[in-house]
Amino acid sequence: ITYFNKFYHMNLLLDCYQKAGKIAAEVREGARKKCHIGSTLFQICESIESEIRKRGAAPAFPVNVSLNDIAAHYTAEPDDNIAVNDTDVLKIDIGVHVQGYIADTAVTVCYDPKYDTLVRSAEVALSEAIRVAKANMKASDIGRVIETTISKQGFRPIQNLSGHSLEQYTIHAGRSIPNIWTIGSSFNLAPNQAYAIEPFVTTKDGQGVVHEGKIRNIFGITSRKPTKDKEVDEFLADVWNRFKTLPFALRWLLDKYEEKKARQYIEILIKRRNVHAYPILVEGNRKIVAQAEHTFIPSDSFIDIITL
Ligand code: MN
Ligand code: MN
Repeated sequence: ITYFNKFYHMNLLLDCYQKAGKIAAEVREGARKKCHIGSTLFQICESIESEIRKRGAAPAFPVNVSLNDIAAHYTAEPDDNIAVNDTDVLKIDIGVHVQGYIADTAVTVCYDPKYDTLVRSAEVALSEAIRVAKANMKASDIGRVIETTISKQGFRPIQNLSGHSLEQYTIHAGRSIPNIWTIGSSFNLAPNQAYAIEPFVTTKDGQGVVHEGKIRNIFGITSRKPTKDKEVDEFLADVWNRFKTLPFALRWLLDKYEEKKARQYIEILIKRRNVHAYPILVEGNRKIVAQAEHTFIPSDSFIDIITL
């Protein structure tokens, strides 16, 4: 590979990231400003995903609409009639991809002012983390800034949720950016590599840890090994063609499949370990959680916050 090709490729890739980031930011700000009281989680997910498509990109994962003590990984079921009320704290986590290059960003909305400081602490922790982030720094130093910022405001970070590196068609690409200061193994942020920073915050009486809940409504293909059942294999091939390694929801399959049939295929594929079902993540003491998230790319001279 020549230098010319290397930089040419780098620029194409950055264009994709910037396009994805701009759309993700626009859609997130739209979701922040809107009043969601009375809307169902189904309506919120579908409307945000359609805003992404309208702008010429695709959702990188089903919009996560996690309420109150659910920290992450809930998306609407096809007939989801859970409605947002004025005491809810709702994390809206949005992924946009352009040719597989992903922008990952989140906002927390709430309508009861008693949660404003909690939501604010996630936002402040994110902006402090972004302010210190640069190429070649230790990821654990970002964790320290996030933890200190949250603690100073009288709250608690969720210690087993973290930011992450991103690769083409891969949301969690192997490197974690902690939300707390961690001893020992850390790594240095590589220049020209995409990362997401996402502080999750709970109250002092929270456990500061999330556990897996029973609900699983986000899926991802983990293996394309044939099942020998023609119908299931055709379904798997179709899902692969549409989403590759990116997560998907049952809602997204109902254009082509009957709900009952699609559920059946997914169940078979989960049992055969072709598909992974992501459980919702719930705060250990069932306390309220807030989140904020940006995706950024550090270079040797500056950092590009693509979802700003
Ligand atoms: Mn996210
Ligand atoms: Mn993320």
